[in-house]
Amino acid sequence: MKAIVVGSGFGGLSAAALLAKDGFKVTVIEKNEQIGGRASVYSENDFYFDMGPSWYLMPDVYEKFYAEFDKKPQDFFQLDKLDPSYRIFFGDEKVVDIASDIEKNYQLFESFEEGGAEKLKKYLAESQEVYDFSIDEMLYRDYTSVLDFLSGKLMLRGYKLKIWENLQHYVNNHFESDEARKIVQYSIGFLGGSPQNTPSFYHIMSHIDLTMGVWYPQGGMRKVASSMQDLCQEYGVEFKLNEPVQKLEVNDHQVKRVITDKSSYEADIVLVNADYAHAEIELLDESNQTYDERYWDKKVLAPSAMVAYLGIDKEMDQFAHHNLFLDKDWEAGFDSLFDPKKAVWPKNPSYYVNVPSKTDKSAAPEGYETLFILIPLAPGIEDTPQIREEFYNMIMDDLENKIGETIRDHILVKRIFALTDFKERYNAYKGTALGLSHTLRQTALFRPAHMSKKVKNLYYSGHYTHPGIGVPMVLISSQIVAQEIKERHSK
Ligand SMILES: Cc1cc2nc3c(=O)[nH]c(=O)nc-3n(C[C@H](O)[C@H](O)[C@H](O)COP(=O)(O)OP(=O)(O)OC[C@H]3O[C@@H](n4cnc5c(N)ncnc54)[C@H](O)[C@@H]3O)c2cc1C
Repeated sequence: MKAIVVGSGFGGLSAAALLAKDGFKVTVIEKNEQIGGRASVYSENDFYFDMGPSWYLMPDVYEKFYAEFDKKPQDFFQLDKLDPSYRIFFGDEKVVDIASDIEKNYQLFESFEEGGAEKLKKYLAESQEVYDFSIDEMLYRDYTSVLDFLSGKLMLRGYKLKIWENLQHYVNNHFESDEARKIVQYSIGFLGGSPQNTPSFYHIMSHIDLTMGVWYPQGGMRKVASSMQDLCQEYGVEFKLNEPVQKLEVNDHQVKRVITDKSSYEADIVLVNADYAHAEIELLDESNQTYDERYWDKKVLAPSAMVAYLGIDKEMDQFAHHNLFLDKDWEAGFDSLFDPKKAVWPKNPSYYVNVPSKTDKSAAPEGYETLFILIPLAPGIEDTPQIREEFYNMIMDDLENKIGETIRDHILVKRIFALTDFKERYNAYKGTALGLSHTLRQTALFRPAHMSKKVKNLYYSGHYTHPGIGVPMVLISSQIVAQEIKERHSK
């Protein structure tokens, strides 16, 4: 049977490899010049930038994925545990390192507030319990009806573990100090949410980053994407690059042909990894859309971003591999991302600086550094070269001030990527960088389905679907959908 996969992000690559292993003849059709999607690579003058994901979290999920092929991550890349896991700059007052050794983090929390070590132990024990529960019961399964979601076991354990409460409330009940609260909440940014709009279920993120640790695949996240392309090729998957899909031609409730700007392809099944909203609104006729434009317009989108990729001609000791600059006025920062009435280019945003050259000598020439500066922004706001440049200079003023050294005088490579680029390069709805936020009403059953409700042989994988945002989640999404396809089409 012929399977066409539209898009070669992690969702497309992983699903293509799984389907090919299950005996499908798979062709991946990608709009851009390279594979990887959000995990594209930009290189200039021997500086290499992973354009999107940079945190390798949940190593157990990657292991489970490679195990489907009787492999392990280390068959493809060297995996190192980072220490420190990351560095946090609290305004211009305090800099702390989160260690890979959890004992050191207990001491750190004790320095924030009395009993901080014990409080963190308790918080992480709860977080681990919910993580184990979610891996066993929630993440690797699909939800096709309310009954799935309301299953007794899930509701009972969920109630006991308080997973439906709001995260901010949950955290405030556990910690008093501003530092402790921010450390256990910042990671919600990975899920494109804010502590006020995200269920406390996602405090599993603290088990993930504080207990399981932050890892780095040598060669960068691009190595992980290319390992999946290697798997695909081992099972005979064909790749078409630079070939945007323009239409999914449906007859008798089945996609019969996939039309691109260059050709057209027959398909027995079609799996879309391209942005879900783009596929439904732009590739399908209205009568075949499960989710029309009004549906998408009402959704809470995860933020967009502005990312500056900088290659600089010196080394900088002030930075660790991952660095978070957290704003004092952090609640207002979330408002400017999620409250449509307050959606503006923010004045004092929190931001993230990734310096992979700290760990990976292949990222930059010797003695030089590769910087990736990411500032979350509300999707859909005005984006012009002038606004970007002013915003970039505002951030650089702040950054140089906090680290006490100039960066702008040392730049050899500079590229800015923001809202409209997300839209143009990835067909991202309103320029969202991360897809759909993980609010309670956009979790599990309430995310767009893996299977079209109108077109029988049309499937979806990727960050819009359950379980959601982030490379590990996207791999799980492909495992769920590949299993469903296998079961349905082998009958
Ligand atoms: C800046 C940034 C930082 C991030 N950091 C992290 C991190 O540190 N760790 C982490 O785990 N996750 C991170 N994420 C999230 C993670 O990158 C995403 O959740 C994941 O990569 C999404 O994969 P996907 O396959 O669902 O979508 P995508 O990667 O977007 O793949 C979709 C593909 O479809 C293609 N496409 C679109 N339209 C068409 C069309 N018409 N025809 C053909 N092809 C089409 C696109 O070009 C793209 O290649 C980050 C994301 C961003 C943007």
